[in-house]
Parts: sequence; C-alpha cells; structure tokens
Amino acid sequence: MGRFAPSPTGRMHAGNIYASLVAWLIAKSQGGKMILRIEDLDRDRSKEDYISQVMRDYEMLGFTWDEGPYYQHNRDEAYEQAYRKLEAECGVYPCFCSRSDLKAAASAPHLGEKWVYVGTCKHLTEEERAVKSLDKNPSYRLIVPDETYSFVDQVQGAFSQNLAYECGDFLIRRADGMFAYQLAVTVDDGAQGVNSVVRGYDLITSSPQQMFILEKLGYPAPTYAHVPLLVNQQGKRLSKRDKDASIDLMLETFGTVEALMGHIAYVGKIIEREEAVTPSDLLECFDMKKYAHRVMDEVGRLEPIIWQ
Ligand code: GLU
Repeated sequence: MGRFAPSPTGRMHAGNIYASLVAWLIAKSQGGKMILRIEDLDRDRSKEDYISQVMRDYEMLGFTWDEGPYYQHNRDEAYEQAYRKLEAECGVYPCFCSRSDLKAAASAPHLGEKWVYVGTCKHLTEEERAVKSLDKNPSYRLIVPDETYSFVDQVQGAFSQNLAYECGDFLIRRADGMFAYQLAVTVDDGAQGVNSVVRGYDLITSSPQQMFILEKLGYPAPTYAHVPLLVNQQGKRLSKRDKDASIDLMLETFGTVEALMGHIAYVGKIIEREEAVTPSDLLECFDMKKYAHRVMDEVGRLEPIIWQ
C-alpha cells in the first residue's frame, strides 16, 4: 500500500506532482494500492478550499487512489494513544527551547532544516521544569537510543542514521498540544497499512526516526524510495513561490494535462523522450531499476533535477 500524503497549504507545483507520480508508479508497478491522506495536521494552514483543490488537482492529473481520503484533523485519539505508548516505552520530556523549533515540528523537516538536538532540556530537575512552565508551555521530546536505523532505499541504496548522534531527541508534540509531523505521519502509516513510502529526498533523514516510532508501536517498517528534488535555477527546492512551476501556469504553458505530465516525466527522467502521456501510459513502461539508475550520477549520488 502506497500513499499520497499532500499537505493542503496551496496548489500543487511541479515538485509535488513529480513525487506523487513516482509514488503512484512504484505502488502500481509493484501491484500495490494507493491511499490518499490529506495531511491537515496544522489546522490553521490547511484551509477547506485547499483541501478540495488538492483533491481536484490529483483527479485532473489522472492519479487514482483506492482508499481514502483520510485526514489527520480527526485522528487526535490515535495520536494520543501512540504518544502514551512511546512515553511509557522510551520516555518523553518537556522542552522549553525556542519558538523556531516548535514551529518546525509541525511540518515535515525538509533538507537543511534538520539539526541535532543536544538535549538541553533533558536533565532539568522537576523544580526547574515547574519554574519554566510558569513562563511558557513546553513542547515534548521523545528520548532516542544510541542506535543506528538503516534501510535500503529503492532509489539511492543504503542509508543509515544513528538516532542519538545524528538526530537527537525529537519533538513529538508541540507546545500548543498539537502532535508533531513525525508522530502523526508514522501513526497513520502504521494504522493504514502503508508499506511503501515514496517522497522527496529532503525527507530521507526523517525515515530513521519514523522507523524507530513504528518499531515501538509494533508496526513493520515500510520500503522507502526517496526521489530527487526538483529545484529552481538557483538550486532551491521548488516551492509555491516558484510561480512558473505552479500547476495553473504550467497548464497554460503546456496546453494539456498530458503534455504537462510528459514534460515532468521527461525532466524527472522517468521517460527518455518528451511526449504527451497519462500516468497510466507511464505505468506501461515504468521500470524501477532503470529509473533509479538514471537519477543517480556516476558516483552513485542522487542529483537534484533543475526544473526548466
Ligand atoms: N505532507 C508532507 C509534505 O507534503 C509529506 C510527508 C511525507 O511524505 O511523509 O511535505
């Protein structure tokens, strides 16, 4: 079971479309199903309009799903239960560190946004915690072991991370009570039977954390495939600010959905010649091994793809 997991914070852009396309192709070429999960954990940023828009975009692009849409806004009970289990098994502590890390916890940490938490708040005494609590509500960190989590990524090969030294205790609940991305996404993947996670390369450093949570909750780890990022001419990950990669403008430029899909598939090295295609056409010729080979450079590194 694969998944589309869009955060409904605006229209789709070329980068989202590309990652969704590869996720769909991998799941379908391996005989799997897809679920659609709207990641509306952050209720302030997930407007009702964006949710219906993102679903219309998926449909228009020819992406089909077999289950869902599931949501995150109504899953607090499941997240709470998982939180309690993790607290009992691994330990959790309140963290009073700055606002910027609290903010970062709600959304997926994209490449370059990850840093190792050095455990500043881990050894506070009960008294110190009580004093600090008078000033601000804490967020909560999950204590990680000195253990290395490894997997073989379907695109880029072996990847591993020592949780204590390359990640540190990480946030699973924000100061406002909202559960963090790492917890919610993992609880959902486990409960929804997701066994194939395909997403942008910028989330690869989250996978060991998610494997750790899955293990503690008694779920098996999925297979992972982290696909190259589409970047703009300045080498930055495409975002909603790159207007020429926005779905509306691209449709104007390319005229049809199929021409747009063909361009994304060509730039993204899924096909070797640019032509108008649907996701189903691509499925007929999709070959995971050849694709993985094309997106790696000669020394086995995954290169970002410049959007043009
Ligand atoms: N909802 C996340 C995003 O759109 C993706 C999370 C994931 O694939 O784990 O950035």
